[in-house]
Amino acid sequence: RLVPASMLAGLALAVAIVLLARRQVSLANSLRQGLRHHEFFLAYQPVVELTSGRWVGVEALLRWRRPTGELIGPDVFIAVAEQTGTINRLTERVLELLQHDLGDFLVHHPEFHIALNLSAHDLTCDNIVRMLERLLMETGAKPANLIVEVTERALLDLASAGPVLAALRARGIEVAIDDFGTGYSSLSYLESLELDFLKIDRCFIETIGTRAPTSQVVQHIIAIARTMGLRMVAEGVETEAQARYLAEHGVQYAQGWLFAKAMSFKELVSALNEHGSTVNVTATNDR
Ligand code: C2E
Ligand code: MG
Ligand code: MG
Ligand code: MG
Repeated sequence: RLVPASMLAGLALAVAIVLLARRQVSLANSLRQGLRHHEFFLAYQPVVELTSGRWVGVEALLRWRRPTGELIGPDVFIAVAEQTGTINRLTERVLELLQHDLGDFLVHHPEFHIALNLSAHDLTCDNIVRMLERLLMETGAKPANLIVEVTERALLDLASAGPVLAALRARGIEVAIDDFGTGYSSLSYLESLELDFLKIDRCFIETIGTRAPTSQVVQHIIAIARTMGLRMVAEGVETEAQARYLAEHGVQYAQGWLFAKAMSFKELVSALNEHGSTVNVTATNDR
């Protein structure tokens, strides 16, 4: 007898949902195990000043290497960690890794910036303020060396991120709104927050030089950042044409494979030693 197609489709959907849920649970378990077994590390992507080509800082990006050798990206595991309550411990690990990697680097590079990513949940308790203060103390860094990145989406998830962001800024730590333009937050809400940097999402940078209507959006985002008095960082810059456009339109900083991919801290330090911060090391690394 024939089973109606709609019933089959429903069954397939149910199976898919169960499989996905099981994958989430098993990923969540592996995450906790990964934390115990120190499977996480940080990769650092240089942030470049567009007018000079100087490396003015880095963004710390979390990586997870499974014992099988498999490398899992934050796009996969951060969401799982957020849904399963592991995100606090993951953020704690990020700070431990930073402390370990940085050592007294910032004492010798007082102008260098380290940007790190926080999740919405990190902004609900001021424990994060204490953790960052400890990082500063242990590394001898100044608050001005640190930039905290929060996605526009994370800000939308919260009733109010204001108090923690204000506490960070009161201590001299700067705040960047990440993936700007992808979260539909109202401009009046953004204006009520204390921010220093606006990071233009890669999806808008991709359209520069194309005829797609979104390419117009970049100009509007730049105008918004100017109006709000924010410095700008363009994400995912891959071509000379994009870099030129951004510089011509007053965007101060950029990250992207045109300049450098994320690298280990050791690789970062040797690149800085070898070339100084003034040389564009274009596409010399392979990650
Ligand atoms: P994000 O903060 O917007 O980071 C930029 C992402 O774009 C990174 O991916 C980076 O590797 C990638 N990227 C940089 N330049 C280029 C380019 O020229 N072309 C292309 N195609 N991609 C480029 P990644 O490392 O996979 O990180 C994804 C997201 O995961 C991050 O987006 C951030 O939101 C989140 N994330 C990363 N590390 C952490 C962390 O420690 N904590 C939290 N809460 N989130 C993190
Ligand atoms: Mg970021
Ligand atoms: Mg970003
Ligand atoms: Mg992004």
